[in-house]
Amino acid sequence: MDVNCLEMGTDCDQVVSGESTGELVEAVHGHMRLAHGYTREQLDSAELNEMIRGAIWQSARPREIRTPRPDI
Ligand SMILES: [Zn+2]
Repeated sequence: MDVNCLEMGTDCDQVVSGESTGELVEAVHGHMRLAHGYTREQLDSAELNEMIRGAIWQSARPREIRTPRPDI
């Protein structure tokens, strides 16, 4: 699974990938720290983590909708 950094309210279109939601959150944290200068404190904030999970949901949804259906 992957998420575009744009979904997190930035103007950076870096795609971050992970095997699971937890791994993806970790990868996003790493990207935000290295590329956007976020501090440990900012990365640990509940608001940021809610936003990251929201962005992951947004990214996951269209792929499910695009799943081909044999009855159409
Ligand atoms: Zn970014």
